[in-house]
Amino acid sequence: MANLHFDVNSISDTNEINEADKNMVEKQCPMQDLTRDEVILYLRRSGLRPTRQRIALSDLLFGKGGRHITAEALHEEAILAKVPVSMATIYNTLHHFTQAGLLREVAVDGAKTYFDTNTSNHHHFYHEDTGHIYDIETDELQVVGIPTPPEGQEVWRIDVIVRLKDI
Ligand SMILES: [Zn+2]
Repeated sequence: MANLHFDVNSISDTNEINEADKNMVEKQCPMQDLTRDEVILYLRRSGLRPTRQRIALSDLLFGKGGRHITAEALHEEAILAKVPVSMATIYNTLHHFTQAGLLREVAVDGAKTYFDTNTSNHHHFYHEDTGHIYDIETDELQVVGIPTPPEGQEVWRIDVIVRLKDI
């Protein structure tokens, strides 16, 4: 498949942001401040036909900035927003958006997958009991000693989930 996805990392680049703005900016997602027309353009550029359902789901997904949402939670939001959409369409849309680079999939275990509107490289805290997942917003976590990948393969991404429990 051709690499259609635009460089979302360049949009959410936080390198030159001062410390005070950091939390706010890191919570943003690249789609957040786009107009409806721009969302349509982004979907097209990502190779996705901008159907009414996709646009409505984009509004729900990206209108609230950086967040992590499950397919079930998005379905509930769609029902509340009176967007008529089946669970199958929700799954399809989330996977299309992920393939297009608009979302990042965070699989915390075999049964639970979150979709992250912040597609930049970052790691997560995950609370095992509450199911609460959120971005690690410090640079304290460093991955060192990356293993050599098997021949013909490259390390594409490293994402770490730091699992929490109450003490
Ligand atoms: Zn995240």
